[in-house]
Amino acid sequence: MTENFTNFIAGAWVAPRTGAYFENRNPADAGDVIGCFPRSGPEDVARAIESAQRGFARWSQTPAPVRGEVLHRVGDLLTQRKEEIARAMTREMGKVLAETRGDVQEGIDTAHYAHTEGRRLFGRTVPSELRHKWAMSFRRPIGLAGLITPFNFPLAIPTWKMFPALLCGNAVIFKPAEDVPHTAHLLVEILLEAGLPPEAVQLVHGEGSVVGKAMVEHPAITVISFTGSTETGAIIGATCGRMHKRLSLEMGGKNAMLVMDDADLDLALDGVLWGAFGTTGQRCTATSRLVVHEKVHDRLLKMICDRAERLRLGPGLDEKTEVGPLINEEARKKVEYYVGVGRDEGAAVLIGGERATGQGLERGWFYQPTVLGGVRAGMRVEQEEIFGPVLSVIKVGSLDEAIRINNGVKYGLSSSLYTRDVNAAFRAMHELDTGITYVNAPTIGAEAHLPFGGVKQTGNGHREGGWEVYDFYSETKVVYVDFSGKLQRAQIDTEAQIDTE
Ligand code: NAD
Repeated sequence: MTENFTNFIAGAWVAPRTGAYFENRNPADAGDVIGCFPRSGPEDVARAIESAQRGFARWSQTPAPVRGEVLHRVGDLLTQRKEEIARAMTREMGKVLAETRGDVQEGIDTAHYAHTEGRRLFGRTVPSELRHKWAMSFRRPIGLAGLITPFNFPLAIPTWKMFPALLCGNAVIFKPAEDVPHTAHLLVEILLEAGLPPEAVQLVHGEGSVVGKAMVEHPAITVISFTGSTETGAIIGATCGRMHKRLSLEMGGKNAMLVMDDADLDLALDGVLWGAFGTTGQRCTATSRLVVHEKVHDRLLKMICDRAERLRLGPGLDEKTEVGPLINEEARKKVEYYVGVGRDEGAAVLIGGERATGQGLERGWFYQPTVLGGVRAGMRVEQEEIFGPVLSVIKVGSLDEAIRINNGVKYGLSSSLYTRDVNAAFRAMHELDTGITYVNAPTIGAEAHLPFGGVKQTGNGHREGGWEVYDFYSETKVVYVDFSGKLQRAQIDTEAQIDTE
């Protein structure tokens, strides 16, 4: 019988008040039901918030280095259970085992980084402009953080939010994507096993338009961190703006790899295959545009088609598989739609362009790796996020043109340049309008200890990861202590501070 999973609210695993559930299926085999998960309602969210307020009162008083110790144990438990979690994640999300192992590793790295941050969480002490006056800043926890996450990094992305939020002393309410609730369940189990006070974390499953919306609209949740599509981010942003909430948005991308005529083409080939077809193209940083210098365009394109056609599709749990399925039927229909759009716009489908069938592939949401040639700047397949195994190839005559094309989209997450010319590389670093640029590496490959995020409609100026995310989850408080024993006026009594005798 299919297992009914529960929410984690008020320190206990509990059924939703709605009594309703949804099925979670394996995208490589739609007949394989992983479990049923709560289709929660606003009442469940309200209970989670009440409990999180109690959790916050206690957890925020725990010294930061001790909070860090809990996160260190979380990292150790993730290490112990890495293989089991990776397998569960592949079963529910579809990407290949090597990638889900990497996803768990990112969580481990994030936990261990957060541990050490517990002994830093620096404030600043700076000179005052007046004598006998002390000036400093320190960090305070904020309160309740609502975390809303997408399907494509079922463990890593929640940890990017949850671990720094907890390290800073906040309580968290976690709403994972509907397609990956099981990984979220395992993560919360680990937090509890590591000794996190139970009311500091709440897990509420359900639909974004119900649970996510209720979280965003609840006045007691003062911090929202969202990763997902630009469209959903806009809805959340409007509400948070109206309610004056602190908000971090990480959204879509239309990332380009630029290959110049002096590039190492074998290196670029490996990079583009990994960037475009890894995670079946469902990474926010996926290489969805290839911008190639005309002198090497035909040669590189042939090399790509030869290799991409031979990529082995299958269930991610099979170690020989190179490309897994899409997350669900809706995602596959979106890919089909965009390939149609590309054809109508005059692009050539060089390989792929069909659902993948045979050898059991019809049981899942598989789609052939697809290369669209003859794409020009401004076409919809060049501008819009497809989020699938589709690479749009654009021919250019110069680095200037390549940079212009890279920058000519509404997104700005990641970019990459293949060249042996150091001057070109440094120019591109400065001129590519993205939050991340890779040189001689594909558009993917971020590390947990550096800030991650994008510009333009990819983000709203915040970063995840690294040292910057700790600013987002803490409030800066400034303290002045005047020990002169008299009234000293800032900006006014400063002249008198110079000893001219
Ligand atoms: P999505 O926007 O459909 O869903 C993301 C989350 O938002 C889910 O948990 C969903 O339930 C919730 N949600 C949906 N409607 C909501 C609402 N009205 N109010 C509150 N919450 C709501 O995104 P997805 O399909 O899960 O993920 C794919 C998208 O995520 C792509 O656009 C991809 O580029 C983006 N992404 C961005 C990054 C990044 O760091 N920039 C990383 C990963 C994914």
